[in-house]
Amino acid sequence: MIITDNHMHLDPRGLGVEAAKKFSRAGGTHLIIVYKYAKDYGIDVKDERDFEKAYDIVINLCRKVNKKTDLEAYCIVGIHPAEIVELYKKFGEEKTWDLCTRTFDIITKKYEEEEIIGVGEIGRPHFPVSSEVMEFCQKVMNEGLTLSKDLDCAIQLHLESFEDKEKFYELEKTVKNYGRKERVIKHFAPPNVNLFREIGIMPSIISSKKNVKEAIKEGNRFLMETDYIDDLTRPGAVMGPKTVPKTTLKLLNSRILSENDIYKIHKENIEKVYKINLE
Ligand SMILES: [Zn+2]
Repeated sequence: MIITDNHMHLDPRGLGVEAAKKFSRAGGTHLIIVYKYAKDYGIDVKDERDFEKAYDIVINLCRKVNKKTDLEAYCIVGIHPAEIVELYKKFGEEKTWDLCTRTFDIITKKYEEEEIIGVGEIGRPHFPVSSEVMEFCQKVMNEGLTLSKDLDCAIQLHLESFEDKEKFYELEKTVKNYGRKERVIKHFAPPNVNLFREIGIMPSIISSKKNVKEAIKEGNRFLMETDYIDDLTRPGAVMGPKTVPKTTLKLLNSRILSENDIYKIHKENIEKVYKINLE
């Protein structure tokens, strides 16, 4: 049975491959490793080459997981909105924009060389910032959407929390203007499967039992994730690496998820949005 965690932040300075092994022992088979912030990998960004160094750390960790476990791991890299806020404060608008566009060229190269299967996280900060900074983050997000459209590759968006319908329609509009909805994933998504189907964007749902139970009432068009943060100084800060397989198997046992649902969520939906084949 294929069980995929769509959003894990593994870190060589954290548990690294050991966290992947925990995921595997709990029944996980496939995972998408998502780049966090350069400073988490001990890199202080001065130019785009620093981003590349940070990306290479995650890409190498992904290779290591593939080599040392039975898992199939894939990698995506982006520029996290929280990281953009910091760069903006440090360098100002013009320099940060130049840095972002040059970094997008690096992401393009990494995608073309098949070191990554998509872009992310990119988007808007989930914490309050000035309207000037928010506008800038939006500009970078639009550029990220354009990049994913040009490369026809998946993109995971990090956005503020979604409550009202208006937010969904606003996102639909932005994606329509800049991206390709078939490739867009809303990371940390609420379980509003129907609304996401309506706007054509794939939700990646935080895999508490409660959330997945809510989601499946509206269908199986979603992905599952933990947003696992591999940080030894913050144990238990977020969901553990075993959560996606554990939740999936528990809900299978209690017949809330069928085998067909699991096939759809963990295999077909992933294959479709990333254009990959899972075995
Ligand atoms: Zn994340």
